[in-house]
Amino acid sequence: MKRIEEFLEGVQTMGIAGHVRPDGDAVGSCMGLYLYIKKNYPQIRTDVYLDHPAPVFGHISNIDDYRTREKAGMIYDVFVTCDVSAPDRISVGAGLFDTAVKTVCIDHHKSNPGFADINHVCPEVSSCSEVLYTLMDPEKVDRSTAEALYTGMIHDTGVFQYSSTTPRTLRIAAELIEKGIDFSKIIEESFYQKTYIQNQVMGRVLAESIMLMDGKCIVGYIRKKDMAFYGITSNDLEGIVAQLRTTKGTEVAIFLYELETQLFKVSLRSNGRVDVSKTAAWFGGGGHVRAAGCELSGSMYDVINNITEQLENQVTELGL
Ligand code: 5GP
Ligand code: MN
Repeated sequence: MKRIEEFLEGVQTMGIAGHVRPDGDAVGSCMGLYLYIKKNYPQIRTDVYLDHPAPVFGHISNIDDYRTREKAGMIYDVFVTCDVSAPDRISVGAGLFDTAVKTVCIDHHKSNPGFADINHVCPEVSSCSEVLYTLMDPEKVDRSTAEALYTGMIHDTGVFQYSSTTPRTLRIAAELIEKGIDFSKIIEESFYQKTYIQNQVMGRVLAESIMLMDGKCIVGYIRKKDMAFYGITSNDLEGIVAQLRTTKGTEVAIFLYELETQLFKVSLRSNGRVDVSKTAAWFGGGGHVRAAGCELSGSMYDVINNITEQLENQVTELGL
């Protein structure tokens, strides 16, 4: 596929959805596509399905349009997933994806098998928002679409720090800045700024973290009862695993939190040599070489043991 326009012919209704617990790239790419269609193809009735985006995405135009419940009986002419690596990762909108006349998957996950009628998956690209921009007509990208895409790009590149950042990423970011966005404010308020409670929780997780495998692996965790004590949700934990990863000498950082009793969401980050998407995939999850995740059940210590055993195999194989 070269242009979004290729799947718009005859389309009167469009649904868009991102992945569960949407991060900046999921929100940015879904909203970017939504705003682009609304602006340039107002005759297409478009709905965006997102599972409660965090307040830090409040600067994105029309963010309040997101739907958390599927329109009953709706059959979309086309249903597009953005930043979704597998069909079971679609949160709200999964039923509508199944019934749509035509489906499209725009993504950048290495583990994506290509599950739609039209698949545009570019694993070498830093974010789905970047993939999406390359499918848009730059002339038709207005400031609000640029703000959404830029948000997605900074979140998945760690503000252009991660090795997935390429000269093209930066050229696209430059083009988005030319649309007049307040990039400095977006970076500060949607990426770096934390509430007092979020910083307290981050401090606590760092203080209680453990080092394993001779300092090559760091593990942080938080239990459901402690999340309840602070009155936080998973949105408030964004950035903790990235902070763990900065620990000198580590190859891998693991962060887990309890979704339900004995069910843990595991986030994995690598400093480049270990492929954490392999480990995540082993447990039914997925992601990228340096950032991946999965869900595991059992006691917290079982989960830590199981994950670290897999990682240790790789560390040994690689001779690290
Ligand atoms: P995070 O740790 O920030 O939730 O996710 C890191 C990366 O791994 C993201 O690209 C995300 O889409 C992917 N990922 C996280 N959890 C899962 C999971 O349970 N299944 C799959 N397939 N991918 C996941
Ligand atoms: Mn992404």
